[in-house]
Amino acid sequence: MMDTKLELRGQRVSTLEALCEGMKCPKFRAKQIFKWVNKGVCSFDEMSDLPKDFREKLAERTFINSAKILEVVHSEKDGTRKYLFQLKDGNIIESVLMRYKHGNSVCVSTQVGCLMGCNFCASTIGGMVRNLTAGEILGQILDIQNDIGERVSNIVLMGSGEPLDNFAEVVKFLEIVNHKEGLNLSHRHVTLSTCGIVPRIYELANLKYQLTLAISLHSADNAERSELMPVNKSYPIEMLLEACDYYATTTGRRITYEYALILGKNDKEEKAKALAKLLRGRLCHVNLIPINPVKERGYEASDNQSIEKFKMILKRAGIETTIRRELGSDINAACGQLRKSHLETKPVTQLL
Ligand code: SAH
Repeated sequence: MMDTKLELRGQRVSTLEALCEGMKCPKFRAKQIFKWVNKGVCSFDEMSDLPKDFREKLAERTFINSAKILEVVHSEKDGTRKYLFQLKDGNIIESVLMRYKHGNSVCVSTQVGCLMGCNFCASTIGGMVRNLTAGEILGQILDIQNDIGERVSNIVLMGSGEPLDNFAEVVKFLEIVNHKEGLNLSHRHVTLSTCGIVPRIYELANLKYQLTLAISLHSADNAERSELMPVNKSYPIEMLLEACDYYATTTGRRITYEYALILGKNDKEEKAKALAKLLRGRLCHVNLIPINPVKERGYEASDNQSIEKFKMILKRAGIETTIRRELGSDINAACGQLRKSHLETKPVTQLL
């Protein structure tokens, strides 16, 4: 029965208008539904400006896809909260709330698992299970807002999954995030991180959203990058940077290049010089990330001295560089790690 009902979260106003039309009720009701849903209500009774009989009819045809919070891990150190959500079909995803002076930031997952196979990443170890719907992506934010009783002001698409491998739902999500009666959040407060699916970067650029595009680069050398990230075999570095340049000129937005430093591998001086050479003159910013060790992969994080040296080399070449502040290091907050450890200790039978 459930799957014949329409999921209300993550629907465009136009879809809700068609729904209202089908129910022979005035079109303006669609906006009202849209507003309530994006406020995060979880029951039809809360939609107080809708007539009772309409609410009943709505409940017969639709549902609000809120997820069950299975676990919240709270960092005493910095207030970071890591959420483990169980979706309606039993699948498990994770999201992270980070508290900054300038507001609440949420890192959302876009897929259950991931197909990309980056060999330092925990999300990809069990393979790809399925795409999330726009409603399930948005739901992570709504459910967290409900949990903390505060608004979220920044979103990063850096949880499990590859957002550009779930393009249609991610774009729908981005549209609703920005909608006045949706979350009403400027795209300038949204960062989308990708491993580099080149054709989709062009498509995204052409939408002219004011998003920050973050590229998981991790190496300036094709052989090394292909070893770390299989996607590089299809879309090597030169192709990727060309797409990024197009993104920067089309949207006017500066690109962020993410570079996770792995001890004794991509953290050496000559690697920093190669990266500087590659990025010199580009509208960009480099974010250095000490890699989160993932037991299965045998990679260790670089030492502080190497990280600082790496940063200096880039800075001297005129490239703006920051080192990612580690949040939630006491709570296993890296991508896919909590979900993975949960699945290992408490297997979920519904998981395909
Ligand atoms: N698929 C997207 C978004 C998810 S990953 C992407 O590849 O960008 C978000 C970021 O975390 C990426 O930069 C990814 O490379 C990085 N990452 C994954 N595993 C990591 C680890 N063990 N330590 C540090 N960063 C990691």
